[in-house]
Amino acid sequence: MQKGQIIKALAGFYYVESNGQVYQCKARGKFRKDALKPLVGDYCEFSIENETEGYILRLLPRQNSLIRPPICNVDQALLVFSAKEPDMNLLLLDRFLILIEHLQIQPVICISKMDLVDESHIHSLMKPYEEAGYHVIYVSSKEKQGIEEVKKIFKDRITVITGQSGVGKSSLLNALDIHLQIDTNEISKALGRGKHTTRHVELIAMYDGYVADTPGFSSLELKIEPTELAQSYHDFAKLSKQCKFRGCLHESEPHCAVKEAVENGEIAASRYEHYLTFLKESKLLKEKKYG
Ligand code: GDP
Ligand code: ZN
Repeated sequence: MQKGQIIKALAGFYYVESNGQVYQCKARGKFRKDALKPLVGDYCEFSIENETEGYILRLLPRQNSLIRPPICNVDQALLVFSAKEPDMNLLLLDRFLILIEHLQIQPVICISKMDLVDESHIHSLMKPYEEAGYHVIYVSSKEKQGIEEVKKIFKDRITVITGQSGVGKSSLLNALDIHLQIDTNEISKALGRGKHTTRHVELIAMYDGYVADTPGFSSLELKIEPTELAQSYHDFAKLSKQCKFRGCLHESEPHCAVKEAVENGEIAASRYEHYLTFLKESKLLKEKKYG
């Protein structure tokens, strides 16, 4: 028996990578329930039948899984936001961050089109994020700036590249010399309730890691329980251990460490206000769900 990772699913076959070899595998065993079906990104135990073929016997526990696209064990998301055209939208940035962190995926914030703006303005907008521990990379695909820094993040990880349409994802991929058939408009289509086409998913070996050939998030709706939302931002989660109440939503509870951090400037007021907006949304969704 051998351990490997599924890097591609196509027409009923799974392509399993192990020690630099790729084996075309069928799943053998109890995979009938959808939740148990192998996904791209899964680590598995498999048998080798010959030099190029095998059978998947067992899946190892998942770190996370995305539904659309179907992919799991994603380590990080390169979240692309443009400094201009479209303008920086911090509410949207915070929404992406909460979705990503909720899935236990580490975000890397990439600010694109830096050649179009006064850099110091963008740096000051991003300062609270850097102080909160987010890795922020400033790039200009046009002027080939920051590209080397982006290349470094792929090593030993599975990365999805995500962001609104028009922020410069395709241009960045070109500058990185990554040639994926990513439909970078998938997110906007999803927001416009466009049709989803089921396509195959594939992990592409890139700069000593893997990049998923899909933009990662097809919906930006926060289907997250309020108590989970309160724990989604890594810095809120860390502080919440000091909140007086377990399950504190950092809203109107007394002795809330998150609110205290906002008051003394450790957490940016804007991030906290955005959080309250999301909390409202999450509560409304819950009400709808349970009547
Ligand atoms: P995508 O929809 O996220 O893939 O975005 P594109 O890569 O197609 O870029 C959208 C628009 O922004 C295009 O007109 C690009 O030429 C422009 N763009 C992308 N990156 C840069 C950049 O670094 N600097 C400037 N000035 N324009 C850029
Ligand atoms: Zn609290």
